[in-house]
Amino acid sequence: MEKQDIEIKRYLSDLKEGETGVITKVKGYGAFRKRIGEMGFVHGTVVKVIKKAPLHDPVEYELMGYRVSLRRSEAEMIEVISEEAATALSGQPFEGTITSEILRKKVAERGKIINVALVGNPNCGKTTLFNLATGRHERVGNYGGVTVDIKTASMHSKGYEFNLTDLPGTYSISEYSPEELFVRKHITGEMPDVVVNVVDASNLERNLYLTTQLIDMNIKVVIALNMFDELEKNGARFDYQNLGKMIGIPIVPTVASKGKGVNELLDEIIAIYEEKEPVYRHIHISYGQDINRAIEAIISEIRKNNLVTDKFHAYYVAVRLIENDSVFTSEIKKIEGTDLIIERAGKEILKLEKEFNERTSSLISDAKYAFIRGALKETYKEAGSKAKKNHGPDVVLTHQWLGFPIFLLFMWIMFQATFSLGSYPANWIDSGVSWLGELVRNKMAEGPLRDLIADGIIGGVGGVVVFLPNILILFFCISLMEDTGYMARAAFIMDRLMHKIGLHGKSFIPLLMGFGCNVPAIMATRTLESRKDRILTMMIIPFMSCSARLPLYVLLISAFFVHKQGLVLLSVYLIGVIVAVVMSLIFKKVFFAGKEAPFVMELPPYRIPTLRNTAIHMWDKSVHYLSKMGTVILFASVLIWALGYFPVVKKTSQISAKTEMVNNSATLPGQNNDIQQSASTENESERLENSYIGKIGHWAEPVMAPLGFDWKISVSIITGLAAKEIVVGSMGVLYQTNNTEGASVNLQTRLRQQEYTSGPKTGQKVFSPLVAFTLMVFILLYFPCVATIAAIRREAGLKWAILAVVYTTLLAWFISFGVYQIGCLF
Ligand code: GDP
Ligand code: MG
Repeated sequence: MEKQDIEIKRYLSDLKEGETGVITKVKGYGAFRKRIGEMGFVHGTVVKVIKKAPLHDPVEYELMGYRVSLRRSEAEMIEVISEEAATALSGQPFEGTITSEILRKKVAERGKIINVALVGNPNCGKTTLFNLATGRHERVGNYGGVTVDIKTASMHSKGYEFNLTDLPGTYSISEYSPEELFVRKHITGEMPDVVVNVVDASNLERNLYLTTQLIDMNIKVVIALNMFDELEKNGARFDYQNLGKMIGIPIVPTVASKGKGVNELLDEIIAIYEEKEPVYRHIHISYGQDINRAIEAIISEIRKNNLVTDKFHAYYVAVRLIENDSVFTSEIKKIEGTDLIIERAGKEILKLEKEFNERTSSLISDAKYAFIRGALKETYKEAGSKAKKNHGPDVVLTHQWLGFPIFLLFMWIMFQATFSLGSYPANWIDSGVSWLGELVRNKMAEGPLRDLIADGIIGGVGGVVVFLPNILILFFCISLMEDTGYMARAAFIMDRLMHKIGLHGKSFIPLLMGFGCNVPAIMATRTLESRKDRILTMMIIPFMSCSARLPLYVLLISAFFVHKQGLVLLSVYLIGVIVAVVMSLIFKKVFFAGKEAPFVMELPPYRIPTLRNTAIHMWDKSVHYLSKMGTVILFASVLIWALGYFPVVKKTSQISAKTEMVNNSATLPGQNNDIQQSASTENESERLENSYIGKIGHWAEPVMAPLGFDWKISVSIITGLAAKEIVVGSMGVLYQTNNTEGASVNLQTRLRQQEYTSGPKTGQKVFSPLVAFTLMVFILLYFPCVATIAAIRREAGLKWAILAVVYTTLLAWFISFGVYQIGCLF
């Protein structure tokens, strides 16, 4: 009786004008607690009600000597104990004021009250657990739906008071049934301090579905792994501790019917309540790239509305809105100023349903089951003979022995398609670019403008456009693998291997994409949950030799390695991979030492991808490459052209300062070097050497000489800072001179003929196979490119971007130095 009187004024909003209370608990979510906490509303603070507005909203309070006003909705989430209540509880007469000591004691007691809600599927043993803990005798039955109304009881244990609530059994907390709605409303409305998710261990997959919904809600959850006796009887093996670490929820095995595990369960509840539970953390279930993107978009809208974020976790709201649950959506609609959120969600739902041709609610539940399947695949083994086999394609695709060779086969097909299929359109584009360049050269009046357009712009950008088909094909293959669900299996297969180098299986996908273009690969690291994994992966992606570096390899290999061309090319790629592995291990030691939290790799259902969807994904990935051409590469081409063009020395006779920037890749037809040009080459060479770029090259030469590089190579390397595609183009410009034969000669031959014209090495050949190989290693390893660095900066921050610049370049120098110097010994 006495207790009920006191319970009336549980929240700050219940206090009357002039009354004083002490805060015992602040409910709500991160954003709210942080904001309110910064204002001083924390456990133990004394708050006085100064003035209630006529409609009781907002209310003015005084705390710690200053006044603030709170909305009623905010005050409703702050639990207090009033002076009056404290006095009544202490059993002494209330005399207007209360001794602070009694109040402090009462406040501390209040902090020791833990409100616990039991949720779980029907028939998983909630009521049995409830009865066991509270000593009550509620009806239990082994059929669903026994618990229709809720029961609450409190108990004292371990110095705490537990208020247990037995909620109706549900398979989910969407709003398909009154029970589900009830459970959901209880969790978000009453905000129990800890939710105990009772899970039937003999039926994990179905039971964990509800768990995934609790994960989204970002609340404190402990899993009671009930019916553990059944699991043991079946002979199944379940590494529940590992699962707990993966999902960030402590798991306690219980056998409620035999009274086992309750003690441990209470310990966990206390630990998580007091925030002393090491396993507990909030994870995000990955819903796949499209839904994740939609979630992000909606969250950015939600973040603008305090009223929503105070009540719910933003991520949860976004997921629920995408699920398109009418009850939940209308609930959000009722909150002031949420029109934009609802509108955004509507658009995203439409987009997703169009892309997948499926209801978003089933997309979400598919993803949740993918999460569960992935989690159980790593932790749960059914008894030997009865072992549940994989379904469908997984029988072979993730097979212990077959999985890996099949995966390699797919990789081989992908690279084969990228390079051989892509070479046809690449040649067409190349011809087109040459034709366009010629056209400009013939039609326009002679002068710097013509040279700028023909050589700087068409030549420079054209040399890069050539690789577009290869990139599109590579991205098409990657998108196809993602959309069918195979990519997740590939990550699964690679997981063990990736763990050895301190990475996660999921890092494999961005790394693989790095072979196409580093920029989207950096963006793809977003699929990794932990920042550590993201940064580690970003730091080694630059060593995945992107397709922009390939033209140089092709040029040098066909010029200097007549035999075993494929082997040489493979060795360059392998050097990249080996350096990546070593660096990953070092980085992990240096920056990310300490234990890591394992996490779940989703196993999504296999899908037949729609062409539309795959095309969209391919396009998304390619856009970065295209925009790079329009911006960085265009700018760099013009800059390099200008540096090579100026200062214009007094023009001698009819010689035009012809600087070709057209791609002179060895596989492609060489430029038509007409007689007139060859006659001018002596002067051209001199002109270039005296240009700004020549000066830069000479300035850099002492640094590069130990690697066997002359000033022209140094210049080419510098120009490659913008984009590595440019290196070949620059070499095309720089080495077109000194051609004494007067015949049309392609770049390969020109490189072979190149000799030093000054310095101690005068007369010696500039290039040898060793120099060519060293150059390939250097180009492979040094400064990725401006666009990649910009992407790293965006994803990881300036610090990491700077580190990436410095360490890759230093590494390139030292490794190339080693290669060249050791090579010279033979
Ligand atoms: P609820 O629907 O979640 O409230 O589940 P109940 O508490 O009504 O339990 C359903 C049935 O499971 C009852 O027959 C219990 O005796 C039985 N049960 C509960 N816990 C366990 C357990 O740990 N092991 C086994 N074998 N049976 C259990
Ligand atoms: Mg029950």
